[in-house]
Amino acid sequence: ARKPLVAGNWKMNFDHLEATYFVQKLAWMLRDAHFDYRKCEVALLPSFTSLRSVQVLVEADNLHLKYGAQAVSVTSQGAFTGDVSADMIAHLGCSYVIVGHSERRKYHPKDDANIVDQVRAVLAAGMQPILCVGESFEERRQGIELEFAVGQVHDVTRDLSEDETKQLIIGYEPVWAIGSGMVATPESAQDAARAIRDHIRLTFDTHVAQSVRIIYGGSVTSKNAAQLLSEPDVDGFLVGGASLDVNEFTNIARIAE
Ligand code: 13P
Repeated sequence: ARKPLVAGNWKMNFDHLEATYFVQKLAWMLRDAHFDYRKCEVALLPSFTSLRSVQVLVEADNLHLKYGAQAVSVTSQGAFTGDVSADMIAHLGCSYVIVGHSERRKYHPKDDANIVDQVRAVLAAGMQPILCVGESFEERRQGIELEFAVGQVHDVTRDLSEDETKQLIIGYEPVWAIGSGMVATPESAQDAARAIRDHIRLTFDTHVAQSVRIIYGGSVTSKNAAQLLSEPDVDGFLVGGASLDVNEFTNIARIAE
């Protein structure tokens, strides 16, 4: 069975001091609750500026929390002012990098054009990409949401090998659900996750399809997490707003444990 993943995408929130405080508090709260990390992976996705602080804390206290970055450059080094390479991120002990988040696709349109290269860069550095896909309100209105999300997955997996695809984590995040308080129904999260898994099965095989984790994102809270996770193809969450509240994020992790 696939291990659930609860990942907090902090977006552009928390400086390194706030991040340090949050990580300590989260670790204490999960320890108090006798949280079993073998049953559920818990990850944080802070800003670049906080990654080193999170690493130091996780290593010093031997915490079982995972962490990763929100974006990555496709090039390995050179004259690219302001960019951060996959190796730099990997050398900070990161496990994950978000690729193709709708906010990146929107505010950094160039990122939308080389998603496959970003996925490849993350994989080559030994980390797992969290590939975000999902329709906007317009595609949903037209009733083409499944084709749209599956198409975004296909755009990447058609250029990947079977071994590379197995390392992918797919974040199904309908754009209309992000930060809106309008969470997808468990049924529609399941429909999308199943359509994506079926597509991977058709492209590769059952084994690959069964190993890829597909997590849901978009207005996840401790109130709706249990129902979403009861769906067979939903393997966890990419949590935005609710990951900024340590009590709320702890509760979501405990639901997925
Ligand atoms: P919210 O949980 O704030 O809707 O954000 C979801 C998201 O974009 C996570 O990547």
